[in-house]
Amino acid sequence: MRSKDNSRVRAAALLIGLAAAPALAWSAPVAPFTFESAYGRLPKNVVPLDYQVAITPDAAALSLAGEERVLLEFRQPTDTVILNSLNEVLGNVRLDGVPVKGVVSNDEQQLTTITLVKAAGAGRHTLTFSYKGKIETTPVGLFAQPFVAPGGEKGLLLSTQFEPTDARRMFPCWDEPAFRATVELTATVPAAWVVVSNMPVARRSVRGELAATTFQRTPKMPTYLVEFSAGDLARISATSGKTELSVWAVRGQEKDGAVALANAQQILADYNDYFGYAFPLPKLDSIAVPGGFTGAMENWGAITYNDQLLLVNASSTLNDRQEIYSVQAHEMAHQWNGDLVTMGWWDDLWLNESFASWRAAKETDLRNPEWKWWETQDADKEGAMWADARATSHAIFQHVTNELQAANAFDSEITYSKGQAVLRMLEAHLGDDVFRDGVRRFMKAHAYSNASSTDLWNALGDASGRDVARIAGGWIERPGFPLVSVAAACDATGKRSVRLSQQRFLLQAGDAAAAPWQVPLQIRVGSEAKPRPALLTTPAETFEAGRCDEPLSVNAGAIGYYRVAYDAPTLSTNTLAFATLPSADRIALLDDQWALFAAGRQGLAEYLKLASRMGSDLDQRAWSQVNNALASIERNLRGQSSHDAFTAYARALLQPLADRLGWQVHADESSGTQKLRRAVLGNLGTWGDTAVVDEAKRRFAVFAADHSAIAPDDQAMVLAIVARNADAARYDQLHAIARAAHNDTELQRYYTALMQVRDPALAAQAARVAVSDEFPEQAQSVRMGLVMELAVQNPQLAWTTFTQNADLILKPQAPYAPLIVAQYAPEVFWEAAPPDAIEAWVRARVPAEMADSIARGMETARFSIAQKSAMIKAVGSFLDTGAGVARPASGSVAGKP
Ligand SMILES: [Zn+2]
Repeated sequence: MRSKDNSRVRAAALLIGLAAAPALAWSAPVAPFTFESAYGRLPKNVVPLDYQVAITPDAAALSLAGEERVLLEFRQPTDTVILNSLNEVLGNVRLDGVPVKGVVSNDEQQLTTITLVKAAGAGRHTLTFSYKGKIETTPVGLFAQPFVAPGGEKGLLLSTQFEPTDARRMFPCWDEPAFRATVELTATVPAAWVVVSNMPVARRSVRGELAATTFQRTPKMPTYLVEFSAGDLARISATSGKTELSVWAVRGQEKDGAVALANAQQILADYNDYFGYAFPLPKLDSIAVPGGFTGAMENWGAITYNDQLLLVNASSTLNDRQEIYSVQAHEMAHQWNGDLVTMGWWDDLWLNESFASWRAAKETDLRNPEWKWWETQDADKEGAMWADARATSHAIFQHVTNELQAANAFDSEITYSKGQAVLRMLEAHLGDDVFRDGVRRFMKAHAYSNASSTDLWNALGDASGRDVARIAGGWIERPGFPLVSVAAACDATGKRSVRLSQQRFLLQAGDAAAAPWQVPLQIRVGSEAKPRPALLTTPAETFEAGRCDEPLSVNAGAIGYYRVAYDAPTLSTNTLAFATLPSADRIALLDDQWALFAAGRQGLAEYLKLASRMGSDLDQRAWSQVNNALASIERNLRGQSSHDAFTAYARALLQPLADRLGWQVHADESSGTQKLRRAVLGNLGTWGDTAVVDEAKRRFAVFAADHSAIAPDDQAMVLAIVARNADAARYDQLHAIARAAHNDTELQRYYTALMQVRDPALAAQAARVAVSDEFPEQAQSVRMGLVMELAVQNPQLAWTTFTQNADLILKPQAPYAPLIVAQYAPEVFWEAAPPDAIEAWVRARVPAEMADSIARGMETARFSIAQKSAMIKAVGSFLDTGAGVARPASGSVAGKP
């Protein structure tokens, strides 16, 4: 599963927790997977082998009728059969044709217990029943998605979202990942509709208005990977080896799948080779679900995507294309890590998600070298490291005992981004080829089955001859990461040795004592092309490190998931040589100095000294780090006397770069340079550079008459500057443009700009728009992102809008709502109300079991408040020392913030 990158609205499904049920005791994650020992709530004495499920959905009534036949293996004689169900009523329940004694469905426990007339013996038995169920209106189980097509006509699509625990909403089943079985699905829907599922169509019969379609039987798989979509769909297709590839979309939009189809061909061929195991299904579909479905889901052979994450149209930007490629690469990696080999239980969700994220980044980088994808991914790694530097952070591996916890395990920062970074660090340490060999062994050993972390360590250990569990264990099983402190010593000849020591890195005071990590270091001395790998295994060790006058990178290539604090002489040497360092080493240094300042371990001046050495260099990721840091300071200084002096300093810092870049895109420019231009102009516009603001207004006037006057890639930047400085007339103009958006790509872009107005009266109008009824059906879910955008300029207004309209705003987020409220709301709205008031509101809205998420959200909120006052103080002293005017503004005119 993959949630939308550009949104904080990403999390997981909520189902209210379950009472105690038959379950195995949980033990530490040190054993290979076995079916018997896999954690779960369902008893293991009755095992499904094959499902035949026939459904007849009634979309108008939002109801579902089903017939089911399950071939079971009784491993011991028993008179009780327990399986998962939710909102279903079973009838005519028989075992081997004999009516059963009793059937009790408990929706709170999400279980149905069937009691037989007498115990049935070990061996195979057939369970049959009919049932009635529900079609949902949010993306859980089988759901109905209404939409308005670009031409204005209304439509309805049925689709499914089962991970982690919602297959049971469409058909009663053994809905835990270790219970693999084959599935033969039959669906009866209006004959005019197109139907798609995991496997190709086996047969179809039309009866009047309706058609019954039976799909070929799937391989043995977990129920959460079953897929079904139906509606007025059309496709484009191609082949890759023996596999038929298709992109499906609402009829008329299928041509927008051409880019995705070509991506899929490339990615499938690469993965067939990398995993050493050819994609085993006859076809692989990619299905574009309109708007309301967030993210994407790796159903085996039938991946579903939010249509914005799959279709490319004339309004799409390079960012859109990059996101589409990387999300496809993620979901397709799951066809192996997740589908062919599945984690044994949700504890090991990282085996699915971290792996798919790491593999996707590697593939995106390999096939699009110009995108410098690993440098882009550094921003995600930073997001994870900031989250993981909280005292309340959690380990990648976390024990799951119920549906709510399974859903909350889809944590974008830790399960996805930290996991990806740790795998990359491990790959670099073991070597790419050795790592791939280990992955191939893992696939071969566990195909059509399940696995645990231990199984992966064993496969990588067999390939490398190393004790991988020992190296990797601390990164997976414990929260946090180390700060590696560097203390250099020089001998009389100038030779340097460094003492490296480690402790847990925390942003705020807390218990930093932790067992040492096995830290795979990459050490670069001077201008060495290839860094030297080393492993720090103890609290402190000494290494040789070249000469004292050479720069030193202890996280060369920014590959490591740890921070480095250099002693003053080494930092000074590195700062002097900053311009000559490889870009990834510079990025690591900037990231670390900024985090060390935030943690109160080093001064702001040390960071700004590095930033000021960027000059007119075009390193996009390094500049994006600097841009974000300066923007964060500017935001915290609003309303302070130092604000204008600091923005003048920040503008001057960017000026050489702005002069070099100008507004004009050049044909031979890299995409990174173009992104950099947009970031620089965007910030200068926000920081009151009147020349930039005037040019943006001029361009907007032309754009208003002819939208093709500004390339889609540049629109968000220009519109944001215009919105921030808008008067009533420009606001109305922008609003009219948003209302006339031609498609959802434009809609999202234009309304997001509208939320960026600074003027309080206009912002109040924008807030009313965010909760108005002017959005089409598939775009209801944009409200959450819009209110969060509103918070950047007008936090109190955004908080009031959010809390007073929470039901409306959160309804389309339905499976994600508790995590949004518990963790993301305090993180986003921290400055809008006193923390106790925010916490009280949050606690009243989510189940008590969300306490850990609330603690994380509130820790971040309180940290943000503390950081704001620390920043105000630090900027004050920085400006007082005169350092802030060391680079006087040239050609930049001060304006209102
Ligand atoms: Zn995923």
